Amino acid sequence: MIRDPKALDALISGVHDWVRSTAHPAEDLVDERDEVPAEIVADMAERGYFGWSIPEEYGGLGLTTEELVMGAMELSQCAVAFRARVGTNTGIGSEALVADGTDWQKRTYLPLLAKGEMTGSFALTEPEAGSDASALTTSARRDGDDYILDGMKCYITNAPIADLFTVMARTAPDTPGARGVSAFLVERTMPGLTTSAGYKMMGQRGSPVGEVHLDGVRVPARNLIGGEEGQGFRTAMKVLNKQRIHLAALCTGPAIRMLDMAMHHAESRHQSGRAIADFQLVAALLADCRTDIEAARALVLQTARARDQGRDIALEASICKYFASEACGRVADRCVQVFGGAGYVANHSSIERYYRDIRLFRLYEGTSQIHQLNIMKQMRRARA
Ligand SMILES: Cc1cc2nc3c(=O)[nH]c(=O)nc-3n(C[C@H](O)[C@H](O)[C@H](O)COP(=O)(O)OP(=O)(O)OC[C@H]3O[C@@H](n4cnc5c(N)ncnc54)[C@H](O)[C@@H]3O)c2cc1C
Repeated sequence: MIRDPKALDALISGVHDWVRSTAHPAEDLVDERDEVPAEIVADMAERGYFGWSIPEEYGGLGLTTEELVMGAMELSQCAVAFRARVGTNTGIGSEALVADGTDWQKRTYLPLLAKGEMTGSFALTEPEAGSDASALTTSARRDGDDYILDGMKCYITNAPIADLFTVMARTAPDTPGARGVSAFLVERTMPGLTTSAGYKMMGQRGSPVGEVHLDGVRVPARNLIGGEEGQGFRTAMKVLNKQRIHLAALCTGPAIRMLDMAMHHAESRHQSGRAIADFQLVAALLADCRTDIEAARALVLQTARARDQGRDIALEASICKYFASEACGRVADRCVQVFGGAGYVANHSSIERYYRDIRLFRLYEGTSQIHQLNIMKQMRRARA
C-alpha cells in the first residue's frame, strides 16, 4: 500500500541519489576500516533512515510494507554494510516492539531507535539453537519485580555496537519448544550483559556481528515485551515473517547493482575486436540476471501488498526470502563470470566483494532448506 505516491517518490529518489553520491564512493573505505564512518551514520540518521518502519507517532516514517520494500531495494544498491547499519532499527531490532510492545515500551525505546540514537538488535540464535531456534536455552528467572537472564547468543547482527537487544529467553524451564519462550528488551548498560568483538567473516566488512553474553542480567519485568510470559516465540515469528519480505527486497538491491556493474563491464570490455556484450553467451548471462531480478522484485511487491492488506503471508514470505536470496546468488555468480579474471581479482573490480557479501543471504533468517520445508509445510496445511 502506497499512502502518498509523491512523498514516496521523493523519498526513493533521495535514497537513489544518496546511494550514488555517498555510499558508492565510500565502499572501499568501509571495507578498509571495517566500519561505516561515523559521519555517514550521522547523515543516515539525519535523513531518517533508521526510522523507516517505526510508526510516525514515535518519530519514524511509519512506512507500509510496500513502501518499506521499495526503499529497501534502493538503499541496498551499495555495499551491504550501509543498509545493515540502519537495518536492525528498520527491521528485526525494532519490529518486536512495534508488533507487541506495551505502550511504555514503545514510548521509551521507539523514538530513540527511530532517530538512530539507539541501535537495536535481535538476539534469538544460540550455539545449539540455529535452524531450530525453539530449542534455545537462555533462561529468564523471575525474581521480585525483575527477571534474571543467563545464557549466550551467537551470530547477532550489530551486537558489538547495539544499545538495545531483543532477547528471546525461556521463562518456563519445564516447557520445551516455543511455548516456554518470552521476549525481553535488554539495554547494553544493564550489568552482566557483554558482547564479543565482531567476527572475522567471509564478507560484509563494516557490518559487525558477534556474541551476546548474559550473565545474571537483572531486567525489570516492565521490559518483558507485551507484559505476558510465553509469547516470545509468537512475537519472534511476527518479526521474522515481515523481515523475510524486507530481506528479500534487500537481496534484490545488490542484484540490481551487480547487474549494473556487469552491464557496464560487458559494454566496455573488448575481445576479438568487439564488446563482450555482443557475444550471445555473455548476453544470455546478463538476460538471465535481469529475469531473476524482475521476478524477485515482482514477488516482493506482491507479498508486501498482501501483508498490507492484512492477509496471512507466512507461505509467501518464505517463498520471497527463498527465491530472492537464491536469485541474488545466481546473479552474483553470473556477474563474476561476465567480469572474467577481473571478477576474481579484488584489485580490478569490487564484484568479488559483492559475491562474498551476498553469500550470507541464503543462510540467515532461515536457510534456503528451512524455507523449502516451511513452504511445503504451509502447502500441506492449506490442503488439510
Ligand atoms: C552473519 C550472520 C548474521 C546473523 N544475524 C542474526 C541476528 O541478528 N539474530 C539472530 O538471532 N540470528 C542471526 N544469525 C543466525 C542465523 O539466522 C543462523 O545462522 C541460521 O538460522 C542457521 O542456523 P545455524 O547457523 O545454527 O545452522 P544449522 O541450523 O546448524 O544448519 C546447518 C545446515 O543444516 C541444515 N538444516 C538444519 N536443520 C535442518 C532441517 N530440519 N532440515 C533440513 N536441513 C536442515 C541447514 O539448512 C544448514 O544447511 C546470523 C547469522 C550470521 C552468519
